[in-house]
Amino acid sequence: MSAIPQERRVVTAIPGPKSQELQARRLSAVAGGVGSVLPVFTARADGGIIEDVDGNRLIDFGSGIAVTTVGASAEAVVRRASAQLAEFTHTCFMVTPYEGYVEVCEALAELTPGDHAKKSALFNSGAEAVENAVKIARAYTGRQAVVVFDHGYHGRTNLTMALTAKNMPYKKGFGPFAPEVYRVPVAYGYRWHTGPDNCGPEAAAQAIDQITKQIGPDGVAAIVIEPVLGEGGFIEPAKGFLPAIARFAEDNGIVFVADEIQSGFCRTGQWFACEDEGIVPDLITTAKGIAGGLPLSAVTGRAEIMDAAHAGGLGGTYGGNPVACAGALGAIETMREQDLNGKAKRIEEVMKGRLSAMAEKFDVIGDIRGRGGMIAMELVKDRTTKEPDAEAAGALARACHAAGVLVLTCGTYGNVLRFLPPLVIGEDLLNEGLDVIEAALAAV
Ligand SMILES: *Cc1c(COP(=O)(O)O)cnc(C)c1O
Repeated sequence: MSAIPQERRVVTAIPGPKSQELQARRLSAVAGGVGSVLPVFTARADGGIIEDVDGNRLIDFGSGIAVTTVGASAEAVVRRASAQLAEFTHTCFMVTPYEGYVEVCEALAELTPGDHAKKSALFNSGAEAVENAVKIARAYTGRQAVVVFDHGYHGRTNLTMALTAKNMPYKKGFGPFAPEVYRVPVAYGYRWHTGPDNCGPEAAAQAIDQITKQIGPDGVAAIVIEPVLGEGGFIEPAKGFLPAIARFAEDNGIVFVADEIQSGFCRTGQWFACEDEGIVPDLITTAKGIAGGLPLSAVTGRAEIMDAAHAGGLGGTYGGNPVACAGALGAIETMREQDLNGKAKRIEEVMKGRLSAMAEKFDVIGDIRGRGGMIAMELVKDRTTKEPDAEAAGALARACHAAGVLVLTCGTYGNVLRFLPPLVIGEDLLNEGLDVIEAALAAV
């Protein structure tokens, strides 16, 4: 653990001179298609702080997009991954296996919802997990169609681009996309045409009607949904929506896949966000928060579904790398020992309290939502028309960055400011970050 003082400190312009130098090198060496939210080059990161090469200390409300839930150099992650690194870096689990992989799969069976027999397969990235969930569901059902939702995000590979809703920046110019992908409405309460109250059942009825009319339930292999939609704007499907869709899947032999890559591993104050409405998915995809920053992802689910793919049909050279598995065991240890579900709930309480008070002063805030350490505010030009205000989101993010608070934006309309602090962040830093956001709102 690098034990960085947990305090915000801005000693240069942001980005500072050393970051600017590195950014100039980066621009000539790194492909332009790979962007950065804030071109501040990192020297160290820990707890709620990212320290840059110029000595600035930023309050981290991003966690590298919901990855460093336990902090970016958590003691147990560093200890276990370092020990593994010294033993061996790789054998390939498909060549000669090792215990860490099995231990991670055992932990996933224990932590994911439902007490049925479960199995897992490990991969490197979230997109790879989603692709494999689709492969497994197709092998199990012998069907082809995959149903996804408006505002959904599932990755950047060819199949997962097809599953992702938003054109810019994820899909534009990169087609043609994989076939047999069908998109249906999601219960986005804030923007539902009849208002939020009946949104859950109404949206579910519409989605089910479209699936029935356009594909036929017996043609559907999988329904893939994020229990809290991440990139699409931290949309919590209105109550009743997820249970109705899960029931429809069950009644029709469709594999219900919860993509918990962003919402899983304590992020929403539960091990998995689908627990909120008592949903037990057939398959669950995880990545991001799973391994304290090391690249690892998983598909976990009902043993009989997971075993449907023939031997040798799943895998990959690096999938379930031993160092990444050790990191995951360290991250899970930290989540348990530091009660990060409890911490996430406390973050929600503090953030929602402060943001609600801000909403009374600033009309630009149209909606505040999210759970645990996954909180967002949607910005609008007018509270009646709800016209999205992407410019305000951009300006606010820039003002926060300049003051040393790293925040991210998201949403189909680019008008959502999202907050994903490491769950180990101190409450004083959390409040200071919120002070900066409040000052930015007043200035913008
Ligand atoms: C980030 C994300 C993915 C893709 O994960 P990568 O590791 O970037 O491939 C898929 N689904 C959801 C919900 C995500 O948030």
